[in-house]
Amino acid sequence: MRGKLAAGNWKMNGLAAQVSEVEALAAMLPSDLAAEVLICPPATLLAAFASRAGPIAIGGQDCHPVESGAHTGDISAQMLADAGATYVILGHSERRADHGEGDADIRAKVAAARAANLTPIVCVGETEAQYRAGETLSVIASQIDGSLPEAVEGDLVVAYEPVWAIGTGLVPQMAEIGAVHGAIRGQLAARYGAQAADAIRLLYGGSVKPSNAAEIFAVPDVDGALVGGASLKAVDFGPIVAALSG
Ligand code: PEP
Repeated sequence: MRGKLAAGNWKMNGLAAQVSEVEALAAMLPSDLAAEVLICPPATLLAAFASRAGPIAIGGQDCHPVESGAHTGDISAQMLADAGATYVILGHSERRADHGEGDADIRAKVAAARAANLTPIVCVGETEAQYRAGETLSVIASQIDGSLPEAVEGDLVVAYEPVWAIGTGLVPQMAEIGAVHGAIRGQLAARYGAQAADAIRLLYGGSVKPSNAAEIFAVPDVDGALVGGASLKAVDFGPIVAALSG
């Protein structure tokens, strides 16, 4: 039975003073919590968060596909692990848009993450134009096909994040989320076999808030959320985690 995951993506937000937020969140978690909680802070805060996050896992927001070398400004998966990370977000739509990352880049990063023993969270999602054109399922299928490894080894998480829902307050209909997650699960089963596909956690991301979390988590094949804005404050993320834990 796969577990549930509430993951927070802090993006380019947070200074040293905000370590108190992760401590506050840790203090809010009940001892019988039935979900895993993850915060992905900016790289500058990884080590500080890892040392003070208690039961909360820590992750990176990206990694370079190679282990070390002449790549100014980049961070390898080994470096993330060395700083205390156990997860890494890969292929977020902001990386795809701002840095021109394509599916092949993301697949190479997934391999690097696995080699460093990090769990990759691979993001897929359609743009607003693609949504309006009715292309959601084909776009997601193509991104899954190109971004994921040929064979699954170890832990893997996929996050469905419609680009038009990120940071906008817009959320697809619950039936739409269910249709996409069901299609992803089916594609993973065809690729890796039913048993391996069943172990892969599928997160929904895009304007998840305390007010809509329970409804989203009730959708079949939604195993948790990747949360941006509402993960920055413990008072917002805590209730989302509680809704997931049930
Ligand atoms: C994200 O960027 O992954 C995200 C889901 O952001 P938000 O929750 O702010 O829409």
